[in-house]
Amino acid sequence: MSAGIRVVSTQAELQDQLQQWRREGMRIGLVPTMGALHDGHGSLVRAAAADNEVVITTVFVNPLQFAPTEDLAAYPRDLEGDTKLAAEAGATLMFAPSVEEMYPFGPAEVWTNVSVRTITSLWEGAHRPGHFDGVSTVVAKLFAMAGHCSAYFGEKDFQQLAVVRRMAADLSFPVRIVGCPTLREPHGLAMSSRNRYLTQDERSRARVLHDTLCFGRDLIASGETAADRVLAAMSERLAEEPLVRLDYLALVDPASLVPVATITGAVRLLVAARVGNARLIDNIGA
Ligand code: AMP
Repeated sequence: MSAGIRVVSTQAELQDQLQQWRREGMRIGLVPTMGALHDGHGSLVRAAAADNEVVITTVFVNPLQFAPTEDLAAYPRDLEGDTKLAAEAGATLMFAPSVEEMYPFGPAEVWTNVSVRTITSLWEGAHRPGHFDGVSTVVAKLFAMAGHCSAYFGEKDFQQLAVVRRMAADLSFPVRIVGCPTLREPHGLAMSSRNRYLTQDERSRARVLHDTLCFGRDLIASGETAADRVLAAMSERLAEEPLVRLDYLALVDPASLVPVATITGAVRLLVAARVGNARLIDNIGA
């Protein structure tokens, strides 16, 4: 166990701790993760620690949000390393429940799930059927356990942030959702637990994703207003790196995530691609 952080794995222990903190008038920050923590997660914990007296980091590889074809079994797990990183970033409590603790009837016997309509039919939702139901269900459970708090999510998963915001508002959770900027490697690749699947060569080639997003953003900044021209130029830029297999490239309204044809205000550029054994997503505001 790392100094200054307590590790618990049951809801009962979490509730006891929360009760005590509430009696003491502590503000509570919540940082939900799937573990394999890197400095991107660390930045969420630091943001939470700056706003709150206590910070709960959760580590749970949620089976509900993985399709049978995805990397659930292979997903990297390292609770000791995660606890150390979370503690160093300012977390007070690590909540690392088992699958049985989160889903007492088993993940295949979850009869009640949370499903956010409309924005989940696009982009990641279209490419990963069921993914967002899994995300919104587990996040709703964590919010139900945590109660009144501020919860920190990364813009790295821009659509997920939008889904969580909407879910919390629709279901009246007493949770303030805080979106945090994407942390990147020095050459621009967004930090991700899935970067571990990349070889050194793939990692260096994957920087084309961020380069392309910046290229699109700069085109817009220089006055281009036709989305199709921006996207065509970005596609050409991406095609220079044949190792990167594109899933989607989109220019969307930042609130609804619906494609924009003519750029008249703020937009978001989204990209998803496969590189080697990893599926990577990234985005940028423009
Ligand atoms: P994950 O464990 O990868 O599902 O992510 C847990 C939280 O960390 C989510 O809110 C992510 O958006 C956030 N996150 C992941 N990568 C980054 C990053 N590079 N910068 C900032 N936040 C991130």
